Amino acid sequence: MKINVDVVIIGGGIAGLWMLQRLRNQGYNAVLLESEALGAGQTRYAQGIIHGGTKYALTGKLTASSEAVAGMPAIWRACYQGQGEVDLSNATMISDAHYLWSTANLTSKISGFFASQVMRARTTALAPQQRPTLFRHRNFRGNIYRLDEPVFDTISVMRALAEPVMSAILAINEHTLQLGESSLQVEADNGDRFDLSFQRLLLMAGQGNAELLTAAGLSKPAMQLRPLKMVIVRGGLTDEVFAHCMGAGVNPRLTITSHQDNQGHIVWYLGGQIAEDGVNRTDAGQIAYARHELADLIPWLSQDGMQWATLDVNRAEVRHADGHRPDTYFALQQGKIITAWPTKLALAPLLAQQVLKLMAGVDKTSCNLPNWPTPSFAEFPWCESARWGMA
Ligand SMILES: Cc1cc2nc3c(=O)[nH]c(=O)nc-3n(C[C@H](O)[C@H](O)[C@H](O)COP(=O)(O)OP(=O)(O)OC[C@H]3O[C@@H](n4cnc5c(N)ncnc54)[C@H](O)[C@@H]3O)c2cc1C
Repeated sequence: MKINVDVVIIGGGIAGLWMLQRLRNQGYNAVLLESEALGAGQTRYAQGIIHGGTKYALTGKLTASSEAVAGMPAIWRACYQGQGEVDLSNATMISDAHYLWSTANLTSKISGFFASQVMRARTTALAPQQRPTLFRHRNFRGNIYRLDEPVFDTISVMRALAEPVMSAILAINEHTLQLGESSLQVEADNGDRFDLSFQRLLLMAGQGNAELLTAAGLSKPAMQLRPLKMVIVRGGLTDEVFAHCMGAGVNPRLTITSHQDNQGHIVWYLGGQIAEDGVNRTDAGQIAYARHELADLIPWLSQDGMQWATLDVNRAEVRHADGHRPDTYFALQQGKIITAWPTKLALAPLLAQQVLKLMAGVDKTSCNLPNWPTPSFAEFPWCESARWGMA
C-alpha cells in the first residue's frame, strides 16, 4: 500500500513519542514506526527523574548541563496538569520531588557546593519532621534537601503520549526496512507491506540510530554508547525513596528511585556513580558492592530477605569529536533526514521544539491512515520475573 505522509518518525521511546504528539497537534500528518514495543529501549530503564540541573552543578557553579535542563520540571509539570504542549494528565508522577542527602562526612568539594548560591536558589533544606520517612530515623546523620524535580513512571508517560495518536503508530519488522531519499518500504509485523513517502524522516531510535544511519548511507553524526550496570533490590522495603546521595565526587555516589513490581512490592532502583563504575564489576561483584553501599549509607536498614539483580543498559547519545559528554539534546538535519538523541528523558520537550523548527517548508497534507497493526507497550525490567533469577 502506498501512503504519502508529511513526517515519518522511527523509534517509539520518549523522543519519538513526544515528537509525534507535538507534530500531530500542530496539524502535520506524522506517523511513527516501532520495531519492538513502545518504551522498549532506554526509556523503560530510565529512573524517571526530571532533572532541573542541580545534579550537574555539584561543583557549586552552573555548568552547561545544569543550564540546559533548568526549565524542564516546569514544562513537565504543566503537561501533567493538562496545560502543556503535550498531554501527560494520564501519566503517573511517582514523586513530586527528588531529594539530595549528604552523609555526615563532607569533603571540601561538596561542602563548597552545599554553601553555594546554586544550592540556595534551587533547593530547600528540610527540618527533621519534613524529611522523607527513611531519613527521620534517629541514626540518620547528615543533611537532606528537597529538589523541585518530579519523578515520573516512564511507561505511563509512554501511554499518555501514544494512546491519543495510536492509529498513527505502526508495528514494523525492522529487518524489512528499506530507506530511500524521500520514501521507505517496510513490512508491518502482520506481513502487510507499506511504501511511505515523506517530506522529513526523523531517526529517533536511540541506540538503533547507528544502523539506520548506515542504511541511509550517512556517515555522521557519530553515536556513542555509555554502558551502565544498574542494580534493583526488593524484599522487606517499606519506604519509597527518591534521592541522590552526595559522595566525594561531582557525580552522585548513589541515586535511588522507587518503583513497584508486578505484586506491588517496593523495588529500589540504584544508579549514579555505582552504575558507572559497576561496568567493571561482575554481576555478583556489583551486588556485593551495592549491599555494602546501602549498609554504609543507610546502616539502620535491615537487608534480611532482600533479593538483588543487576541490569546492563547503554545510554546512546551523540559522540562529540573532542570526547566530551553531550550537555544537552542533539539534532542534525541532512537533506530530508533528521537524526536526534534527547540525551536525557527530561530534555525531550527541548528536542521536540528544536526539531519543529526544522519543519520549515514541510507542507501539511492530510490522508486517511489504514487500520494497521500497532505495537504494545514495554514492561519495566523489574516487572519481568526472569530478571530476579540471579538473586
Ligand atoms: C539507566 C538509565 C537511567 C536513566 N535515568 C534518567 C533519568 O532519571 N532522567 C532523565 O532525564 N534521563 C534518564 N536517562 C536517559 C534517558 O533514558 C534517555 O535519554 C531516553 O530514554 C532516550 O530516549 P530515546 O527515545 O532517544 O531512545 P529509546 O528510549 O532507546 O527509544 C528508542 C526506540 O526505538 C526503537 N527502535 C530502535 N531501532 C529501531 C528500528 N530500526 N525501527 C523501529 N524502531 C526502532 C526501540 O525499540 C525503542 O523503542 C537514563 C538512561 C539510563 C540508561
